[in-house]
Amino acid sequence: MNIAKNNNLEKGFSLPLMEAFQSVQGEGFFSGISSYFLRIGGCDVGCHWCDVKESWDPNLHPLTEVDKIVDDIKKYSIKIVVITGGEPLMWNLEYLCKKLRDLNLKIHLETSGAYNLSGEFDWICLSPKKNLKPLNEVQLIADELKVIISNKNDFKWAIDQSNKVNSDCKLYLQPEWSKKELVLPKIIDFVSKNQNWRISLQTHKYMNLP
Ligand code: SF4
Repeated sequence: MNIAKNNNLEKGFSLPLMEAFQSVQGEGFFSGISSYFLRIGGCDVGCHWCDVKESWDPNLHPLTEVDKIVDDIKKYSIKIVVITGGEPLMWNLEYLCKKLRDLNLKIHLETSGAYNLSGEFDWICLSPKKNLKPLNEVQLIADELKVIISNKNDFKWAIDQSNKVNSDCKLYLQPEWSKKELVLPKIIDFVSKNQNWRISLQTHKYMNLP
């Protein structure tokens, strides 16, 4: 990453915003609920199956003032803002969270957990990746663990990760989209034998939503 050194970026007053939009949360615990999404550019985790590879290079996404981002949100009648990426924890999220909190919005974070936490969240969805493993500080406070299943070895990874989160954390297995026909029967079999796990599907893709 060679994004220009920028004071506003370091202080969290500006962020490399890739897109901002209202949609329906398709995955996990809040699936089916209308939400506003902030997709922050920048990710160096490198999942080969990533469906937002265009997010990886933060230089491609305009540094946008957080005040402007939050002003735009005021036009929408929503209760939940989902901060996603990319890997949003690459950036300082303190100021963004403070401004969203001032609007009494619920703040949800979707992260690989590979970077230190900044900001305060009402819900943290941790989706750990083998390439760049999650930090213990994120594992301990995650509300939701969502493990992507692409092959049979991922079930062991999922169990290993579930042993590192807190006992209240909701556990989800989600088929990797391009392998869903292959892995979904295995996931269904797994959750039938391990009933603390649930299935998450990318329902927004079935509905042709972003
Ligand atoms: S962590 Fe997320 S954004 Fe980054 S490469 Fe993996 S799937 Fe893509």
